[in-house]
Amino acid sequence: MTVAAIERAGQALRDGRLVILPTETVYGLAADAANPEAVAAIFEAKGRPRFNPLIAHVADAAAAERLAVFDDRARRLADAFWPGPLTIVAPARDREAVCDLARAGLDSVAVRAPGHARARAVIEAFGGAVVAPSANRSGRPSPTTFEDAMEETGAFAAEAVDGGPCAVGVESTVVSVLDGRVSLLRPGAVTAEELEALVGPLDRAAGEGHRSPGRLALHYAPDAPVRINVTEANEGEILLGFGPGAGDPRWSLSPEGDLRQAAARLFRLLREADRERPVGIAVVPIPAQGLGEAINDRLKRAAGFVG
Ligand code: AMP
Ligand code: MG
Repeated sequence: MTVAAIERAGQALRDGRLVILPTETVYGLAADAANPEAVAAIFEAKGRPRFNPLIAHVADAAAAERLAVFDDRARRLADAFWPGPLTIVAPARDREAVCDLARAGLDSVAVRAPGHARARAVIEAFGGAVVAPSANRSGRPSPTTFEDAMEETGAFAAEAVDGGPCAVGVESTVVSVLDGRVSLLRPGAVTAEELEALVGPLDRAAGEGHRSPGRLALHYAPDAPVRINVTEANEGEILLGFGPGAGDPRWSLSPEGDLRQAAARLFRLLREADRERPVGIAVVPIPAQGLGEAINDRLKRAAGFVG
């Protein structure tokens, strides 16, 4: 991957075209956040419902504060976790820089400064904010390798940047900081415990009612039906294990029982299992705390268990 490839990606974004973008969480399909036609092309490519707003990816907190109004707590969160896998939803300040369609018409805007060196380089080469939802077609598991991203939406992208396998493997944690309240909208790579250590108890009620496909009953789903919290596979199912002695190591989320490793492997294993065309995919129980909250959230939705 050369400097020229990063420059080409920056130019493609300025031209209103789409770019496959590596981030530390999952691969994104990126566009100029200020360009409504480019943003419309993302919804089109993903088959994403237009009521689901996109995250604006920026270089740093200063760039974020040009787009959004941060209070003290938002600033503290950005200071502690950026660059990194935390998205902050705050009142929109500049309604042109992140266009209406990208915000799904809301008065708030979601912003994040990603940590991946190549994501940062592309944002810098472009010179503005990019929206970059996961590069999968809507409803399917997020791509965490370059090859999976290309398979999903590569055909819609003018440029594609290879950043290797994603280190984190699950999407960013989404919090809103509105009217002096910090609400957890989506569990993710930054854990609730880490957030609460900084800003006190989180409001979780907002997350439950949060209407977006990432929050809908069937999402992140492979073709094969998924059963979770099971200890034994049925005939023809692939069993995804966790921890020592839990089945075939090839299909283990983490043979050592490490939640970070499990998060990094989750979507890739779901995709690999799906390619074997099994009767179904069964998953053993995963601990609920820490990163386990995000893993269980994605698994529940892959299984269609959340109402
Ligand atoms: P993704 O599907 O990974 O692009 O994630 C976008 C997530 O951020 C979804 O859960 C959205 O609903 C959420 N989000 C983005 N913008 C806003 C906003 N203005 N208010 C509330 N949630 C938002
Ligand atoms: Mg997604």
